Amino acid sequence: SVPVSSALLEGLNPRQREAVLYRGPALLIVAGAGSGKTSVLTRRIASLLETREAWPSQILAITFTNKAAGEMRERVRHLVGHAADGMWISTFHSACVRILRREAEVFGYASGFTIYDSGDSRPLLKRIIKQHEADVMGFSVANVAAKISKLKNELVDAETFSRQVNLADPKEAMFLTMFREYSRTLQAANAFDFDDLIAQTVYLFRAFPHVAEPYRRRFRHILVDEYQDTNHAQYALIRELTKPAPAIEPASLTVVGDSDQSIYAFRGADIRNIIEFEQDYRDATVVLLEQNYRSTQTILDAANAVIANNFDRKPKNLFTAGGPGAKIVGFTGYSGHDEAQFVADEIEQLHREGTEYREIAVFYRTNAQTRALEEILIRSAVPYRILGGTKFYERAEIKDAMAYLIAVANPADALAVRRILNSPKRGIGSVTETQLANFAERNGMTFRAALRHAGEQGFGPKIAKAITGLSDLLDEATALTAPPEEGMAPVPVFDVLALLMNRSGYVDALRASKDPQDEARLENIEELLAVTKEFQRNNPDGLLIDFLTETALVAAADELDDTSGTVSLMTLHTAKGLEFKAVFLTGIEEDLLPHRMSANEPGGPAEERRLFYVGITRARERLYLSLAMTRNSYGETSVSAPSRFLAEVPAELIEWKQSPGMAGPGGGSRVAGSLAWGGSSSGAAGGGAAQQKPKTEWTNRVTGKVRDNGDLELAVGDRVKHDDFGEGRVQGITGTAAKRIAEVQFDSAGRKRLLVKVAPIVKL
Ligand code: ATP
Ligand code: MG
Repeated sequence: SVPVSSALLEGLNPRQREAVLYRGPALLIVAGAGSGKTSVLTRRIASLLETREAWPSQILAITFTNKAAGEMRERVRHLVGHAADGMWISTFHSACVRILRREAEVFGYASGFTIYDSGDSRPLLKRIIKQHEADVMGFSVANVAAKISKLKNELVDAETFSRQVNLADPKEAMFLTMFREYSRTLQAANAFDFDDLIAQTVYLFRAFPHVAEPYRRRFRHILVDEYQDTNHAQYALIRELTKPAPAIEPASLTVVGDSDQSIYAFRGADIRNIIEFEQDYRDATVVLLEQNYRSTQTILDAANAVIANNFDRKPKNLFTAGGPGAKIVGFTGYSGHDEAQFVADEIEQLHREGTEYREIAVFYRTNAQTRALEEILIRSAVPYRILGGTKFYERAEIKDAMAYLIAVANPADALAVRRILNSPKRGIGSVTETQLANFAERNGMTFRAALRHAGEQGFGPKIAKAITGLSDLLDEATALTAPPEEGMAPVPVFDVLALLMNRSGYVDALRASKDPQDEARLENIEELLAVTKEFQRNNPDGLLIDFLTETALVAAADELDDTSGTVSLMTLHTAKGLEFKAVFLTGIEEDLLPHRMSANEPGGPAEERRLFYVGITRARERLYLSLAMTRNSYGETSVSAPSRFLAEVPAELIEWKQSPGMAGPGGGSRVAGSLAWGGSSSGAAGGGAAQQKPKTEWTNRVTGKVRDNGDLELAVGDRVKHDDFGEGRVQGITGTAAKRIAEVQFDSAGRKRLLVKVAPIVKL
């Protein structure tokens, strides 16, 4: 056995200890929620470093989100200090980007490749579908995107697909044409979409063994969290890295997972990866953990009872040494607003009793459910934030600014250059754009290179000048971002972005605009500038391409910020791996959970049940289950039914609270009466709420220079003074550093959201 210090093993149960101390080729830790899987993985890494069995550079740990990676790094650092630094702890996507940036040149990509998210690839697919008039055959952006993604996750590229497809079927032939064109366009643009990142890395390793070899040699210990949600491509990547090779001992592999928490089958996750692990890795040792350290027994009883309804699973019973804890609170609201009011009231109650807002989370199945919740939470002055809902990087002006940066970093990316061609308006229309594209094609050059030849294409002098101006600006910025000489700091991304935004006239155009929206856009640009500043502070040697990588890979749960005093709202999918003292599961209704879309999917309802199970098991002490009898959507009121899953929770575990003014369960006549009442009044209530809802806006002005309140200490309750809005009181703080936002109730100007770093405020 290995001399692991007792401090590292402290508090672990015998099974957990076994998992930490295991030394051998393959270890599978299968265990229920909250049983310490992630904790054990962390300690295992620490033990390998502590005993010097491994150097940090020999460890590759894969987590599901960047946030989880950061957390794990912190925990390892806490255990073994700065030995943690050279270690690869990252998501599948980040690890693959790192590999591709170094190696992609062997198969014809430049290391400055662009990463396309769905916001980039959807317009492209839309164009392709339109061009082939494929919509009349029933193709939509959504179904083409989903099918391409699914194929890529199964490592089927367009060429492989062309060999499987039945070309006599016009629909399949059409799909193949579009798949090919999509792939070709990405390749020409030196771009990968999210699924490519993994699939192309696998392809790279398989096609070029000499590229794979240093990685097989380097990573001696590979550890994967949330293994139940890996898809085939991810599975294959791990397979490649642990493959026996001449004169290389295969890496030791540890995977950790819970098949009851597999919730990504719709994205190609393959639960068989965990079930078949023992067959794939013949010498694997399996460790089972059953003791739960997170939740009360009441919560676990509910979780156990619900998941027992799924067939085809290994029976597993979570238990805790802690007590039964409080009962689950159930609530049936009359309407979605009613339900939201219940949530807000209970949150306030918990808060009064000493639970911090950040210890509370509200989950829902679909994003559409947030509207009612938000309205009521704002009205109740409960500070909250939505994870995965901000979509900062999806805003048009942010996309524009990023396209400028991408055009500089990846000159082959025609999409990026075309996006900024007439943004801000330079009088360059679509005819000119097409002409440039044709010129590029005829002369075998990139779209960006074609800009340099504006004088040879017969454009009028004004247009030619505008194109040349843009081209010169991009060239100048590219020169700025050239890798610095040894020992020199790179030009900060902030300077590059500021140059692009100012000299292109983008900022001036927004400033000159009379459209009130444009002021908000200006502020968003400024926020992005603040983000680049923050990036440079954290990565003094960071290059533009590192900044683009980081911003491309932000996942929803990455936005969670433990230090902020806000309630977290998120979908059930985002909640995976997280824990909170109090959890509200809302909308426990048929058609929402299980979602109506799941009914037609094989295994759909079972996956929805696992989603419910994931939600329940996030709670440490208090669990709330709520539903509404009616919901408003698109101005119509629909009547809903309680979820079948609700009946699977043993009745004695739940204490039901009703909607105010409603009879007990099954209070039929009363309900029918109020239905009529609610149907007519809910529209009015909605309108009233819309009026009451304070306008949220970014209130700092662009002054030409970025103001820096980075170090300003602010807390809920502080009084502040704003240049324009006068005095007010801080109601909530969200985000950190450059993204820290204060919600301030001004005495006369109403409620505003301010980006602290740049807002013209002082603390009183
Ligand atoms: P999930 O399935 O939700 O990902 P998990 O199995 O990864 O859960 P962890 O998040 O590692 O579980 O642990 C759940 C909680 O239990 C954490 O708060 C962790 O600190 C705590 N915990 C784990 N093991 C122990 C232990 N031996 N003693 C005390 N607390 C523990
Ligand atoms: Mg975990």
